[in-house]
Amino acid sequence: MTVYKPNPQHNLLHYPIIGRLLRWRWGRLFFQSGLLLVAAVMLYDGFTGIQFAPENLSTVVTWVHYRGIIVFGFLLFGNIFCMGCPFTMPRTLARRLAIRGGRWPKILRNKWLAIGLLFTFFFLYEWLDLWASPLLTVWVIGGYFIASFVLEALFAESPFCKYVCPLGTFNFVSSTISPLQITVSEPDTCKTCVGKECINGRTSTPGQPVKQGDVLRLGDIQVLGCGTELFPPQIDSNLDCTLCLDCARACPHDNVALAWRNPLQEVTQGTWAQRWDLSLLVIIFAFTSLGNAFGMVPPVFQLESWLGIVLGVESEFGPLLIIFGVINFVLPVGFGLLTAWLSMTLSKHPEPLRQTLGRYAPAFAPLAFAIWLAHYGGFHFLSSALAIIPVTQNFIRDHGEVYRFLQDIGWGGLGDPDWTLGAVVPVNWLDPMEMGVIFIGLLASLYTVNERAKNGRAKRDKALAQLPWVILLLGLTFAAFWIFYLPMEMRGTAFMS
Ligand code: SF4
Ligand code: SF4
Repeated sequence: MTVYKPNPQHNLLHYPIIGRLLRWRWGRLFFQSGLLLVAAVMLYDGFTGIQFAPENLSTVVTWVHYRGIIVFGFLLFGNIFCMGCPFTMPRTLARRLAIRGGRWPKILRNKWLAIGLLFTFFFLYEWLDLWASPLLTVWVIGGYFIASFVLEALFAESPFCKYVCPLGTFNFVSSTISPLQITVSEPDTCKTCVGKECINGRTSTPGQPVKQGDVLRLGDIQVLGCGTELFPPQIDSNLDCTLCLDCARACPHDNVALAWRNPLQEVTQGTWAQRWDLSLLVIIFAFTSLGNAFGMVPPVFQLESWLGIVLGVESEFGPLLIIFGVINFVLPVGFGLLTAWLSMTLSKHPEPLRQTLGRYAPAFAPLAFAIWLAHYGGFHFLSSALAIIPVTQNFIRDHGEVYRFLQDIGWGGLGDPDWTLGAVVPVNWLDPMEMGVIFIGLLASLYTVNERAKNGRAKRDKALAQLPWVILLLGLTFAAFWIFYLPMEMRGTAFMS
């Protein structure tokens, strides 16, 4: 199989209409404004509406639609949520307050904090039943706005997206199997480019790029450079790319391309830094896909009560922390290191442990993404997407001011909410679809293991060195099949069980 690299000839930014919209100076603001409006409605309903999750927009949109739409977005396009992320809207305002030269501390310039916060996010989601509480859901959304604003104001780069945000971490890893990637049309143009505006930003004065920490002046027409400090001529990965397209808007030579590629190109041939944090992040991402689904099936409740008896506690906190700590941290770190050690031992041309782990860790991305896709896209979204109709009707009825406004503009005939609306495909299709998606993910991961075996010092690691990785991937797949065959709790809606 030929693995196609991003081809700047197939540049989405040069497509009619969509290309112009994406490159438009206010393009990102346009997408962000749409999502900000949605967030504002969710906040409003979350704080003032009915505190019953299946009937509140904040919970239904967050836990059904947001999660479902982004996973389909990764499959068909790329990191669509970060592209229109409303949490970074205060970025420009925050940059006005930025202390010149303020840099994110060196000790935190890695993914360890992101791993910790990803773990914390999924633990809190389960422990506090975020999916069941409109109020807690909107506090999380509000907290996001505040945290992103504060970090953007204190530091001159975008540390929130790159090093902190759990949603961003999820999106970065998922987008490594997406079919679009930033690249440049003419690498030679970059070699002679003086301003490097794609990373430095562009001012209204030609040839005067924005420097890190520059404070914006009102009325000065500028385009920011890459907030996560990626340099387009050197990009060969979607990791850390928010798809904001600031680089494309800033480049004075129209040299940045958003090009189509084979979705497996990055994980099979990408040259990720062989760092412990990055490699373990991908493996943790895979195990967390199982941990998150396991939190919704009956055995977890039995395990919790057994642990509660053993520990002599009534609170859910301790047992849940142990369950999630083991599945989402101890197992991926333990199995990841053990498998890398076995692979290294079985290789005829062994590389050090860190390099062995770094070489094979990207192979977990396809299977992990497939499990998330089956879960969020298949189970939750396809089974419940139409619930948005009765929930919106209910929102309008519950908020007399909204109802009166719609009547004033001549849109008053709402009808009664039909609470049976939910699934967009026959419900009995869901299980086979989910299993099929996971199986395809497994095949893609096995293929990736084999491809990555060609990239190391050994030139070609023989099957024996690949075997431990194959066994671990098969184990994850069987665990996923087992979990997905069990009855799963609905989250955000109440129309199935
Ligand atoms: S992408 Fe554009 S701004 Fe960046 S180095 Fe190349 S030509 Fe210069
Ligand atoms: S490379 Fe940087 S500026 Fe360009 S789309 Fe990605 S995050 Fe945005």
